[in-house]
Parts: sequence; C-alpha cells; structure tokens
Amino acid sequence: MKLSRFLLLVLFASSSVAQVTVIKAGRLVQPDEGTVATDQVIVIRANKIEAVGPGLAIPAGANVIDLSQMTVLPGLIDCHTHLADGKFGEGDPVFQLQKSASQTVLESVRNARVTLESGFTSVRDVGVYRALNDVALRDAINRGDIVGPRMFVAGAYITITGGAGAMTGMAPDIQLPWDFHYGEANSPWEVRQKVRLLAHNGVDQIKVLSSGAVLTHGSDPKSQEFTPEELQAAVDEASHFGLRVAAHAHSAEGIKNAIRAGVASVEHATMIDDEGITLAKQHGAYLDMDIYDEECIEEQGRNGTMPADFLEHDRQLGELQRQNFRKAVKAGVKLSFGTDAGVCDYGTAGKQFVFMVKYGMTPMQAIQAATSSAADLLGRTDQIGSVKSGKFADLVAIAGDPLKDVGLLENVQFVMKDGRVFKQK
Ligand SMILES: [Zn+2]
Repeated sequence: MKLSRFLLLVLFASSSVAQVTVIKAGRLVQPDEGTVATDQVIVIRANKIEAVGPGLAIPAGANVIDLSQMTVLPGLIDCHTHLADGKFGEGDPVFQLQKSASQTVLESVRNARVTLESGFTSVRDVGVYRALNDVALRDAINRGDIVGPRMFVAGAYITITGGAGAMTGMAPDIQLPWDFHYGEANSPWEVRQKVRLLAHNGVDQIKVLSSGAVLTHGSDPKSQEFTPEELQAAVDEASHFGLRVAAHAHSAEGIKNAIRAGVASVEHATMIDDEGITLAKQHGAYLDMDIYDEECIEEQGRNGTMPADFLEHDRQLGELQRQNFRKAVKAGVKLSFGTDAGVCDYGTAGKQFVFMVKYGMTPMQAIQAATSSAADLLGRTDQIGSVKSGKFADLVAIAGDPLKDVGLLENVQFVMKDGRVFKQK
C-alpha cells in the first residue's frame, strides 16, 4: 500500500470513530459568567466540548442524552483530596505501617471511583503518606485501567523532620521505608532538592507544610514549621518546573509566611488573622478551607476512632475556621472548594456546599469555588471549570435548582468525564 493512501485510510478511520454526543440541557450553569442559561444544546466530539448554545443543529448519528428536565453544571473539582491513602476510616496514620504500598494503592481504587461517581471529575490531590502512590493512581486512571477523576497530584509532602507531613508516632528506633519520609527537608536547599525530585517524578503541584497539623502525632497546629526562606525556596524552585505550590497552614504566622512566599493556595487557613486576609487579597492567593470535615472529626471522636491527641489539637479550631471562612468571604478573598477528602469518607465531598453557604457564600459562589475558581487555582481554565467549546466534556446534572438548594449537589444524578458517561440515574 502506498503511504499516502494508507494515511488517508487512517484519517478516515479516526474521524469516523470520533463519537458525537449531544446533551439537551434544561438549565445550564456557567460559573465563570455567574449565569444560568435555559434550553441549551451541548455538542461533544470524543472527549471535548465542540459547541454550546440554544437551538444548535444535532449532527446526524449523534448519541442524544436528554437532560432537558435537569440542571447541568461543569464537572465539580475538589482542590484538597488524599485519594491514594487507602481505605477510609483507619483513624491513626500509624496503621499505614501495617500495609504494603501496593495494598494501600489498590485499596485506593474505590476512593477514586466513588469520588468520580459523586460528581467530582477533577481533584487536586495534595499529599500522600507513601510517596508516589498518587502518581500511580493518576496514571492508572489516565490509561483507563481504573475509573476515577482527573487527578493533579503532589507526589509527597515536603515537610520538616517530625513535622505536619511526616509519619510520626513510632518509637524513635523504628526505621521508616524511603517512601514514608520522601519529602523530609530541613533547609532551603533540601527543599529545592525535594522539589526537583518530585518534578522529575512527574507531579502536577508541590505541597509544603507551613505549620503543624491536627491529624499528626507530636504536631502543633498553632506552630510555625518551614521558615520563610524554605517556603520561598519551594515556590521559586517549583516555578522553574512550571509547578504551583499549595501550603498547609493553620497558624496565623504559618499562613502569612506562605502567602508572602507566593504560594498559589493556603490549605485550611484555620487561624488566619486580618493581616493574613489582607495579604491573601494583595497576593491573589487562594484560601482552600475545608470547613465541612469538622463534622467527621467530631463523629470519629464520638465513636472512638480518632486518636485523643488529634482531638486535643482540634479543640476550638473547627468553629474558628468557619468564622474565619465567613470573614474571608466578606473580604472578597479568592476561595476554592477543598474538603481534605480522607478525613471524611470518599464520595461525600458534596456535603461541604451547604456549609459554604451557611457561612456566607451565595450558592453561585460555592459552585464557582468548585468549578471556575478551582480551575483557576489549578491553572487550567482552558480545560475545565465551565462548559465551553474546546474544554474537556466533564459534566454533572441534577434534578432541581442548586441555586435554590445547593444541598442537591450532594447527590448528582449524572456524571460525564472526558465525554464518557459514568453515572446516569
Ligand atoms: Zn490534607
């Protein structure tokens, strides 16, 4: 066969297999514009949105999905997950030592599936106990071997020795395997070396720990961990690889050090003060505040699965974080939707919407936090976060109006990712 004829055949074959799907949307939420359009037609070719508008012609042979009685939204995005840490409900992180890395990541297959089925078509996964389990999970999803959201992963926690992202709570003479302390760093140059290593291993963002943590033994959420110099080294080095930095911070100083260093987002931001709120606005940093998971920490406290020192760390912080979330909303700080999935069970992240509205957001603002704003934080507004031509065909749908009752987003009835339907009730 001549080469040109062969090429023609290949071209013909690939264009004829590109499946066209048309969705008839009764209502369509466009979070980037803050609008809701009615009676829209969404034309999808393969995994991308080709056209959106009223009364578009339906291409011959298209697979038509009738959602004319439903509200369609872009796929939801959780900006703070830990999908690759294995089965939910282990309580104490030291139980991670009772399993091999492959057991843990295989247990995580369910976490990925239920996250997607609950309407979250993308997640920013911000750290894992066993380094690079998240990379393996992401790649298995991208190959189509398993079902899950688009994962943007951190590879490991970059943390001080014994810090918020370290595996702690063992006797001092226990030697941990390499993957449990992969991101340990104790100077600006060690931080840079970890960033280089993670970039080489194909991560999508960098996670640093700027203050102590609630759910880590021997850690104090009110403390400062990395110094300003170490945080600046992380942000600068990450920028050389085109990577953004997410900083865990509960304490007011930890938050401000991270914002001044130029991180893309502060995770938790529990004890943020007025100066921190002003700095976040000035620097355009996102606050990614997990204001729902206090419910799960308290529940696990009641049923005895949460270690006592974690409950002691958490005392009064839950309500303080919610009041500071309200302040941040009022001040007009950029806020993204992040739940710390893994503290609550996977697949329940949608429960945070009601809390975001209870603490000061409009339903549209809460939806924006989980769509257009989340895409902005990820640097991927050209791919996800709204229903526009050229973007990935990631969509969810519900019966009813989420702008009247944002709690409807806890139970989405339709999920499409990459043009493929994963749930339809
Ligand atoms: Zn977390």
